[in-house]
Amino acid sequence: MMEESPSADPPAGDVELVPEKIKDGKEGGPAFCCDLCDVELVYNIAQAFLPGLATACVDNTTGDVFRSPGSVAADIRKEMVEYLLQRSETFVAESIVLDGGPEAEASDHPYDIIAYLVDDFASSKRNLFSRVSGWLLSETREDKIDDFAQEMEINGFWSIDKREAIVQTLLKNVDFKNEFHCDMKFDSADELALHVPTCSYRSMNCENEGCDARFSANQTEKHDSICPFKIIPCEQKCSDNIMRREMDRHCITVCPMKLVNCPFYSVGCKSAIPQCKIEEHRSTNLHSHMLYILQGIHKEASMEVLRERVEQLEKASSRKLADIRDVRSLTSRVKDLDARLGPLEVGASNKIDEEATKTGAKLESLEVSDTNKDTEMAAETEVINSEAKPPLEVTPTDKDSEEAVKTEVKIMKQSHDL
Ligand SMILES: [Zn+2]
Ligand SMILES: [Zn+2]
Ligand SMILES: [Zn+2]
Ligand SMILES: [Zn+2]
Repeated sequence: MMEESPSADPPAGDVELVPEKIKDGKEGGPAFCCDLCDVELVYNIAQAFLPGLATACVDNTTGDVFRSPGSVAADIRKEMVEYLLQRSETFVAESIVLDGGPEAEASDHPYDIIAYLVDDFASSKRNLFSRVSGWLLSETREDKIDDFAQEMEINGFWSIDKREAIVQTLLKNVDFKNEFHCDMKFDSADELALHVPTCSYRSMNCENEGCDARFSANQTEKHDSICPFKIIPCEQKCSDNIMRREMDRHCITVCPMKLVNCPFYSVGCKSAIPQCKIEEHRSTNLHSHMLYILQGIHKEASMEVLRERVEQLEKASSRKLADIRDVRSLTSRVKDLDARLGPLEVGASNKIDEEATKTGAKLESLEVSDTNKDTEMAAETEVINSEAKPPLEVTPTDKDSEEAVKTEVKIMKQSHDL
């Protein structure tokens, strides 16, 4: 409907169809009306006026050697204001008439309504050239409009205050749900004066340092919840307080609670740990980290056997293994101790001689204690296993583990015989 005759005078609107509330607002009623509106919305709509006017001026003069956008701006601005005021007065009535029609789904948000009217006006100003050529789709047009809007902004051609004053009037016309403006009316100027400082639409400035946002009092909480300059506690719950707009960077860089990979990631610990808790993780997970390292050395061994080995290693180490910080040092330490302990006793719950564990030097003299019934079973299993897999399990009295491997089966049998 709008596209067909955008420049024609809009239908005057049947007075009978105008909703009671709007009629009352327009036709007098109490003389003292609060005229405060949602500050942010007024500002946003006023911001859309310059590009709208620039579009009208550029499209009106393109291809015209005698006129430039600047030469028509003042006239077109006047037309635009008149057009918007007139259309906004009847817009709601028209929408009600058309309710259920093709435009029934159109947004009834005041911003959308006014932007729609601005577009309508701008397209009504297109000259013949801009209509018939490919002008409307050209990039040059976009650039010219942007440039001209910027030029008007810089020149102060249409001040924000004046634009906002017009928007306030428009807003009252199109905000038929009374969501963005105060509709309170008073019998005297005094009553109105008393109301204004407490009106929920009064203008407020954000108090957060660095923020120059303006908004209506009833939007204070909402702004506070999104203000980029508000100082808030760290989202990852470290003890820091950070400006909201710095939060993301903080969280992925210096935040002590930032999740990092365990230093033992490369050997198999896939835990993600807050970077401040690495030490804690390292000491509470020493066993599992050692297990990972041992798994790398004895790929065939069962977890149970490896767990036992971890305990043996810990006892055998003169230095506290928990103090070893980096993966390379711990790995080489574990390898070293593991080699000194000799080949692994897979499956057998053999106890290392207490004495022997105290000094590395005595480690070679490990003995199998066969007091356990399970040993027989285990030994049998070992023999079977040793046929299929690389042998790990020997109890050598020999230093040389290669030698030990060769004699493994023999030893197993001995052990079995015992
Ligand atoms: Zn008010
Ligand atoms: Zn703010
Ligand atoms: Zn933090
Ligand atoms: Zn770990």
